[in-house]
Amino acid sequence: MWKDFRSDTVTQPTPAMRQAMMAAVVGDDTLGEDPTVKKLELLSAAMFGKEAALLTVSGTMANQIAIMALTQLGDEIIVGEEAHMYNLEVGALAALACVQARPLPSQEGRFAVSDIKKSIRPRGVQSPVSRVLCLENTYDLNRGYPLPPAYQAEMAQLARNHGLAVYLDGARIFNAAAALQCDLKELAQDVDALQFCLTKGLAAPFGSMLVGSQAFIEKARWIKQRLGGGLRQAGHMAAAGIIALETMRERLHEDHANACRLANALAAIDERLVNVKQVKTNVVQLDFEKIGKEAAWVTEALLQQQIKVKPIGPYACRMITHWGITAGDVDYAAHAIQKIIK
Ligand SMILES: *Cc1c(COP(=O)(O)O)cnc(C)c1O
Repeated sequence: MWKDFRSDTVTQPTPAMRQAMMAAVVGDDTLGEDPTVKKLELLSAAMFGKEAALLTVSGTMANQIAIMALTQLGDEIIVGEEAHMYNLEVGALAALACVQARPLPSQEGRFAVSDIKKSIRPRGVQSPVSRVLCLENTYDLNRGYPLPPAYQAEMAQLARNHGLAVYLDGARIFNAAAALQCDLKELAQDVDALQFCLTKGLAAPFGSMLVGSQAFIEKARWIKQRLGGGLRQAGHMAAAGIIALETMRERLHEDHANACRLANALAAIDERLVNVKQVKTNVVQLDFEKIGKEAAWVTEALLQQQIKVKPIGPYACRMITHWGITAGDVDYAAHAIQKIIK
């Protein structure tokens, strides 16, 4: 049996999801006639305490729709250096949204107030308009730092003081809420709009949800159609999303416990392998530089043991725990890593 630690996107739908997908009542969603999609959208908005929500094809699409809805051509958005939007969306900020990104460095996932202040441009005939501050929570897909509501509120206040909108890429917001033991509404209250993925820790096979005000979602729905993201009988997919929201959130602490178990086991083998303190949710970053092994070699050697990890640098690999990984799998993987580095 393969043990796939590359990402929480490799999760299979649960038996309850498969049942619900088969039984779903569906209609033409582009005409607004799919009752299951509507149910998922209402549920999502209510869960985050916002007015409305929109089912999109992917987190990437949701992020780009949001930026297009919040900006005009040539605007500037402030975004984390490690953010998905800036690194892993095929340059869509430039190619589709027609904005330029102003990347910010971070420490343990946090931006410095002084860096944000410095990056907000004064208005002037030669300057692009600073329009949106983009947060991500959990931040950095190779670290998974959960950022508390108080931090988001501080960043949002700063942005608003300068007339910027605040957007949150909450692909793994449920991991953040589980780690911080806070309500989703607390993580949504200080941002204008956010997206979350149904397809990561919640294990649904399809979709992301964009959440915000009625006016924002109306505009977003129109942009989604323009991008070819209009869906027909999408209730089959939405049905799995509803099960994901209703049943898969409260188990995420198990993934965090497994990530912690993995980090501790690896640190016990060689403390240079992992920084246990940086493991806050379901992401573990392994560093093989000090023991002189290249990430490509490690990845290949682990494949021989039926283990998949993601190389993320010359000497670094990432392992993510999820619904398809048990504590036993974690112990097996730690043992296999011990064997290959000896
Ligand atoms: C996965 C992810 C996305 C994109 O979601 P897709 O559905 O893969 O397009 C966006 N942001 C973050 C932080 C992610 O982890």
